[in-house]
Amino acid sequence: MSAVAEAGRAALAYEGLKAFEGLAAASAGEGRDPVNAPMIRHWCEAMGDTDPAYEGPDAIAPPTMLQAWTMAGLSGYAGRAGAYDDLLALLDGAGYTSVVATDCEQEYLRPLRPGDTITFDAVIESVSPLKTTKLGTGHFVTTRMDVRAGGEPAGTHRFRILKYAPAERDSVSAKSAKSADKSAEKTADKSAGAPGASRKLRPRPVVNRDNAGFWAGVAEHQLLIQRCRGCETLRFPWLPGCNVCGGLQWDTVRACGEGTVFSYVVMHHPPFPAFDPPYAVGLIELAEGVRIVSNVVGVSSDKVRIGMPVRLEFTRVDAELELPVFRALEDGEA
Ligand code: ZN
Repeated sequence: MSAVAEAGRAALAYEGLKAFEGLAAASAGEGRDPVNAPMIRHWCEAMGDTDPAYEGPDAIAPPTMLQAWTMAGLSGYAGRAGAYDDLLALLDGAGYTSVVATDCEQEYLRPLRPGDTITFDAVIESVSPLKTTKLGTGHFVTTRMDVRAGGEPAGTHRFRILKYAPAERDSVSAKSAKSADKSAEKTADKSAGAPGASRKLRPRPVVNRDNAGFWAGVAEHQLLIQRCRGCETLRFPWLPGCNVCGGLQWDTVRACGEGTVFSYVVMHHPPFPAFDPPYAVGLIELAEGVRIVSNVVGVSSDKVRIGMPVRLEFTRVDAELELPVFRALEDGEA
């Protein structure tokens, strides 16, 4: 970390941070909409929650929606109290530029029902002393929001973040961090992907007793598909049992190697040290009918198309790792 950032952090006296405790983070906030059935229904659909308590004329809102009724939406609330922003700006200025939400605690005092109007206040409840975590060193900031329905206390919502200076991850990022403060992380990511920088290895596959046979096949340049001995259903990826009949006995079929792109994404961001974006990650439908996630090679990533014919090949990634990939059999212009 730079001498400037170091000095800035040292100058950030903890008493100055403690002074924010008890200051308002939001005053006399009003929920955008009263508690209502459509938002409850969307929430339950997203959560897969089919509890009948959240439906019908006597419905209540799921208690965990407490915060949802206070949220401002994309456009935000006008006239927010400034103390929270001031605190974050102070931490930013001292080099604690990263943020991660760490946890949330809620307490429910009464059920919320459609028609309840929501008001709330929030205070900065605590700012922790400097803590060192795996992510980096920084301060935990806890806000407490008191939520009311029709003016009556309905619950509290405590939300905690860590504002931190990212830990230096390796020698490349350490070098970059010396030359810049706020841009340190960006610079490190860039230099890690630059030609000639020492390359990170690709992540290793997790080989266990349920999939060891697949990797043994890869070592012999065979892509092996499991076949249920009970109902002969093919399955991929490898699993201990058959999804159709539950059978535990299986053998394997060697894929002929022909396939088509069933779907794909082109990865641009976030950067991973062992990969050079952009690259295509395909869901390949094999001629045998099962699908496998793999890279599509031999064609520019922006030319990959659904339905494109591909053929299996094996590529050596590094001294220890060989992987099945799929080579495009046309140039994608068709
Ligand atoms: Zn079966």
